[in-house]
Amino acid sequence: MKYIIVTGGVISGLGKGITTSSIAKILKNRGMKVTAIKIDPYLNYDAGTMNPYQHGEVFVLEDGGEVDLDLGNYERFLDTNLTFDHNITTGKVYKTVIERERRGEYLGKTVQIIPHITEEIKRRIKKIAVESDANVTVIEIGGTVGDIESMPFLEAARQLWIEEGFRNVLFVHTTLVPIMDVVGEQKTKPTQHSVKELRSLGIQPDIIIGRAKEKLTTETRRKISLFCNVPYEAVISAPDARSIYEVPLIFEEQGLGEYIMGKLQLWGENPNWKSWKRFLNNLYKPRDEVTIAIVGKYVHLKDSYISHSEALTHVAAKLKTKVNLTWVDSEEIEEKGTTMLEDAHGILIPGGFGARGSEGKILAAKYAREHNVPFLGVCFGFQLAVVEFARNVLGYEDANSTELQPSTSAPVIDLLPEQRDVEALGGTMRLGAQKIVIDKGSMAHHIYGRLEIEERHRHRYEVNPEYIDEFEKHGLHFSGKDESGERMEIFELKEHIFYMGSQFHPEFKSRPLKPSPLHLELVKAAKSYKNQNNV
Ligand code: GLN
Repeated sequence: MKYIIVTGGVISGLGKGITTSSIAKILKNRGMKVTAIKIDPYLNYDAGTMNPYQHGEVFVLEDGGEVDLDLGNYERFLDTNLTFDHNITTGKVYKTVIERERRGEYLGKTVQIIPHITEEIKRRIKKIAVESDANVTVIEIGGTVGDIESMPFLEAARQLWIEEGFRNVLFVHTTLVPIMDVVGEQKTKPTQHSVKELRSLGIQPDIIIGRAKEKLTTETRRKISLFCNVPYEAVISAPDARSIYEVPLIFEEQGLGEYIMGKLQLWGENPNWKSWKRFLNNLYKPRDEVTIAIVGKYVHLKDSYISHSEALTHVAAKLKTKVNLTWVDSEEIEEKGTTMLEDAHGILIPGGFGARGSEGKILAAKYAREHNVPFLGVCFGFQLAVVEFARNVLGYEDANSTELQPSTSAPVIDLLPEQRDVEALGGTMRLGAQKIVIDKGSMAHHIYGRLEIEERHRHRYEVNPEYIDEFEKHGLHFSGKDESGERMEIFELKEHIFYMGSQFHPEFKSRPLKPSPLHLELVKAAKSYKNQNNV
């Protein structure tokens, strides 16, 4: 069992998640069984209670785990499903240790960060490695070396290296190599400092990945090699890439795959990049282009909707069509109206919570419905499109979701029955993969090509079953339901180029070579819309 530990230096936001995903991908392409773990050194138990505005999207796994968005990258690069345990947080680690202490399992002892917390960290890592039956487990430690929060994790990693042996544990350090504008010279000092910091914790990196605008020069690589005590060939460039999916190939070209295999004494197959390269080629050589507007409240941080933009990238390659995204702040629609949507060939309203900006999303749904613009509403977007329909087609002027207006006289979106007694907000939504039964002959049937699917969920509210008949009578057809037939999962509007919504999140299961069916259909419809209307 081998471990690769990825740390970050100098600043955050260096693309450590993509580095980790790419390393994992390179090894997987050599026939290795690879899995990945993300360590988040914050005290939250999981990402579920965090604001996407601060931390980016909350990614949802098959098992309902609400996790860091990097797990989405791992899943997409490795085309695999991970579990909640693959996201280790300080909150999870401490909770286990403190519960153990209360049960009296440390009786007589003083419970301390070393060894008790570090033991628990290692136990969690090894458990994943064993359960995944992985040859290699890649572990990304969030944050930057030197942060107080990440200390116990780095210490646990150092212990892992001692216990498992230096042929079985490899340290990869990702750093920033800034370029001074005036002279255009790549500066290695920040890298030297962060490696020094890492060494003071007892960790000598084996590989250094330098993020810079351009490739690292020979001179820069030599310097980093000399001052940071790593072989020249272990200093790898991570220049800005046109697509994150190109990063594994950029690493591969520099011999990173062979280097890691050699260091860990692994023997694998010849890497096969055929389908991956074809995917990139399609992405880079589009024959057409369309514009999709994403209407949300967290649009100022693109990471808030990362799974949607990735899903649309997967679609773009499949259709050889460039998909331009315009990010529209729903609060701005409330102020300025829907004119800002006029350039879009399709509109997507993603998930969300709370009243702020919701009226703008309702206006966007109305605009799409009335102007025959392709539309996809996901989760909150699905719910608000239902509200819009109730107000403007069924005539319930005051219709709303009880999440937004508890006193509404037409609660067309209401709390799920099983949520009535739920008080704690962490991890208590309807979460994860659930079965959906699709109507034969429906649009959904045509799109998925199946009558039963599984998609991931994250919600507390749903379409109020009391209004279903009325919606159906007026043409809003619920073509996907849960197994009981009580929970509405998909709607589709008949007299429209493409107007669909899903209570689930199809974006979470989209993969580079297997795009989300609903996103695919949205872009196909956007292309037809563009051609029909000559816009
Ligand atoms: N706020 C809505 C609910 O809880 C939608 C959630 C979402 O979009 N993920 O049902």
